[in-house]
Amino acid sequence: MAVQNNGSSKSFVKIPEIKFTKLFINGEFVDSIAGRTFETIDPRTGEIIARIAEGDKEDVDLAVKAARQAFDHGPWPRLPGCERRRIMMKFADLIEENIEELATLDAIDGGKLFGFGMAVDIPSSVETLRYYAGAADKIHGETLKMSRELQAYTLREPIGVVGHITPWNFPSNMFFMKVSPALAAGCTMVVKPAEQTPLSALYYAYLSKLAGIPDGVINVVTGYGPTAGAAICSHMDIDKVSFTGSTEVGRLVMQAAAMSNLKPVSLELGGKSPFMVFDDADVDTATDLALLSTMHNKGELCVAGSRVFVQEGIYDEFVKKLAEKAKTRVVGDPFDPAVRQGPQVDKTQFERVLSYIEHGKREGATLLTGGKPCGERGYYIEPTIFTDVKDDMTIAKEEIFGPVMSLLKFKTIEEVITRANATKYGLAAGIVTNDLNIANTVSRSIRAGVIWINCYFAIDRDCPFGGYKMSGFGKDLGMDALDKYLHVKSVATPIYNSPW
Ligand code: NAD
Repeated sequence: MAVQNNGSSKSFVKIPEIKFTKLFINGEFVDSIAGRTFETIDPRTGEIIARIAEGDKEDVDLAVKAARQAFDHGPWPRLPGCERRRIMMKFADLIEENIEELATLDAIDGGKLFGFGMAVDIPSSVETLRYYAGAADKIHGETLKMSRELQAYTLREPIGVVGHITPWNFPSNMFFMKVSPALAAGCTMVVKPAEQTPLSALYYAYLSKLAGIPDGVINVVTGYGPTAGAAICSHMDIDKVSFTGSTEVGRLVMQAAAMSNLKPVSLELGGKSPFMVFDDADVDTATDLALLSTMHNKGELCVAGSRVFVQEGIYDEFVKKLAEKAKTRVVGDPFDPAVRQGPQVDKTQFERVLSYIEHGKREGATLLTGGKPCGERGYYIEPTIFTDVKDDMTIAKEEIFGPVMSLLKFKTIEEVITRANATKYGLAAGIVTNDLNIANTVSRSIRAGVIWINCYFAIDRDCPFGGYKMSGFGKDLGMDALDKYLHVKSVATPIYNSPW
């Protein structure tokens, strides 16, 4: 590697004081009822950043009570849409005013590149909020002519109190992907951010209050999944759960929802996405996109295109160029502008990724680059690429969630479609080709919710995002996501002597 983490944690920006560490319930920051806290860790060093209030079932009960009161009796669901829009726009402006502090929090909490936070994560979160703010006054039903003697109209009403449970890989984006459409719809909510990255969610709670979002509309309960998260899923007074996380936990979420009040759930889960490079592709573009697809955000990407299928005619050239480029990727402190890859989010994830690398070696794959941790402290791993990978190897089947790529060779389109689809997941797929017929055939043949042709990770607020198969169901983003937070009610009435 060109420049590696040397273990020093030279700071490129001033780390701010951590202002918000308590639960946010009914517009106030409060300790957890049991008074317990947990540590949030800086993955650059393994050191504690702050102690955060550890919410549990009784704290979730309080938060739900506040959200229920705000929904049943508060102004938010009853405001004209244009008024919700105005407040949401103010919220967006306040985030922009505090962007540096927010990008810093995500960088120290999650090891995310500060520069990316400033340029992409936080601005795109703001745009998501503005996008749904713009929708808040455009929620309407239809008028239906049922038969000669009846007519009906439909109302699209807020679904009620929503539980949002988010993962740690994109703390800001995940927060706004979920909270923004729910706010526009007129819902109230309890958010449980991942325990690894609670800091920015608490800051957003504070800004929501400054913006004028009424108390009880957004509540944030920090804490662990099996306690606070599980209490949300089985709560009798939560009307919907929107979950992003692993497939294993998604199953528990659905089970708890079914066993409690049959609340609807939407699940954005894991993936093992194929990235397919055809013989006619430009090798430079294809290698850049392959690295983006697997190494971006240190591989902590639900859509990671970590099964890289390369057609045999281009394979050798692709491998050579890919290795050259991977070796120049700078791993190190996320505040250093030269760095392309920061540390994995925590020790557990770091050890998990290294154990997958060991599986790869043991099962006979060949290491092309990387394969080791780097630096004396912190959770840094070299960009790792394996060749000679077989479809049934663990590294080709399981989601690794780290900077580990598997290269697989193929001969024909039919073969790659079959092999790409041979997975329990169906989140995303990448295709690199200049041949329109190949692009069309492959994109229609892959069973996945998102297809990127000659690009990757092209997630945007107006494009629905979500999986097929065991990658979940229910879309985030786009107008489809608004529907998750709305009920459709039909109102029918007789109509007499209609001339039509
Ligand atoms: P995770 O499933 O361990 O945790 C996700 C969230 O669920 C966290 O807030 C956690 O505290 C909570 N949780 C854990 N156990 C719970 C339980 N029993 N009941 C309720 N909540 C519980 O996932 P993670 O490790 O935080 O994130 C990585 C996973 O998320 C990967 O599988 C990744 O693919 C997936 N992910 C998917 C998408 C997508 O849009 N499809 C996006 C990002 C991440």
